[in-house]
Amino acid sequence: MAEEKFDTLRIHGGYDPAQHHHSATVPIYENVAFTLGSAKRGEEVAQGNVPDAYMYSRVGNPTVSVLEQRIAALDGGVDSVAVGSGMAAITYSILNVAEGGGRIIAPYDIYGAALDEFETLFPKYGIDFDLVDDINDFDEVKSVIKPDTKAIYAESVANPTTKISDVDGLAQVAHEAGIPLIIDNTFSTPYLFQPIKHGADIVVYSSTKGISGHGNVVSGLIVDGGHFDWAGGKFPQFEENEFILKSADHPKHYSFIDVYGKRAYIKRIRQKYLRLMGAVLAPFEAYLELVGLETITERLDKEVATSLKIANYLQTNPHVKAVYYTGLPDSDQYDLAKASFPKGIGTVLSFELDGTAEQTATVVDSVKLFLYLPNVGDSRSLIVNPIKITHREVPVKRRAASHITDQLLRLSIGLEDSDDLIADLDQAISTAFK
Ligand SMILES: *Cc1c(COP(=O)(O)O)cnc(C)c1O
Repeated sequence: MAEEKFDTLRIHGGYDPAQHHHSATVPIYENVAFTLGSAKRGEEVAQGNVPDAYMYSRVGNPTVSVLEQRIAALDGGVDSVAVGSGMAAITYSILNVAEGGGRIIAPYDIYGAALDEFETLFPKYGIDFDLVDDINDFDEVKSVIKPDTKAIYAESVANPTTKISDVDGLAQVAHEAGIPLIIDNTFSTPYLFQPIKHGADIVVYSSTKGISGHGNVVSGLIVDGGHFDWAGGKFPQFEENEFILKSADHPKHYSFIDVYGKRAYIKRIRQKYLRLMGAVLAPFEAYLELVGLETITERLDKEVATSLKIANYLQTNPHVKAVYYTGLPDSDQYDLAKASFPKGIGTVLSFELDGTAEQTATVVDSVKLFLYLPNVGDSRSLIVNPIKITHREVPVKRRAASHITDQLLRLSIGLEDSDDLIADLDQAISTAFK
């Protein structure tokens, strides 16, 4: 059969009803452990030599597994692992390449908690960051590549600016240096952008956001494209013999590369980070996410169309000084947006009021439909003032570059009627400028 397309995979990917009592929807396996059958099978399962066998739900669970395989299929990856949050996905993806020490290149305008982790926590574990002002300035990126640089990390679409990373170009820079490119694809979801198809090696998600899409589950995912070669000495953790992988099939050479080949990266996260550090995703959360994922196309098509309509409305409002949404024709990244994001750049946009900090607060207090909270990718529309809530971690001297001012408001667009949303913003802005 021909390779199935996105809309088929989001419904059926990774799931065969015949293996689950013919249940039409994915069952919730809310159990900790799985019986091993016999002493002989137990030994084989423990050695990881029985395909599709489960033993203990921290390491693998059939409900979670469907989500993992579905996301890998949607993103064109070879394997995926689900974890308890987007931050766990980022943390494990970085540790798995740079444990034991090394450097990572990333831009400043990344998710606030990731920036805080990169600047203040990872250095305590011997992992240092070369943070650049513009990740699309390849001369700047190349100038900070050092012998112990282990990866380039970026977001496909940054916030609150909705600035896009040139993933194709970055992948080339990374691969010339013999290092992988890790992309946080949270804002795009695999529906709007598939980083692996643009050359990225590893994709991480906060699936808390648009993938689950209903503001009801905290979760993360890591996907591996399976193209990066971890052999050659820069990543010794993939080439060391691992006692847990020793088996009759691999008596002498039993590194992650020997045993798992192209799947080494995800297998290693599962066996070393999920199994030993334990930020596991629960089966019920995976189930909620699978339900949300089934309607991703329809949700995002509508939310993207409404986002564009709202961006256009905001541009006509006399009290709005600037609108930040790369999907607008007058954006300086519009050509890249059109080429790389044919279905739209996303459901988040920001705008700056031509007023005072108090007037910004009045808009927040006056909206009736938009919920005031720090999240994105919900079916409800959301509003936040980044400088006070989501982007407090951004150092004061870095704020201007991302337009993080007292006048900036960020919107995440949901599934309500677009005219109602515009009317809500319009009355709130009118109230503030009365
Ligand atoms: C929310 C978010 C995260 C963190 O995800 P959690 O699920 O909240 O841990 C990471 N990256 C981006 C881009 C996000 O929006």
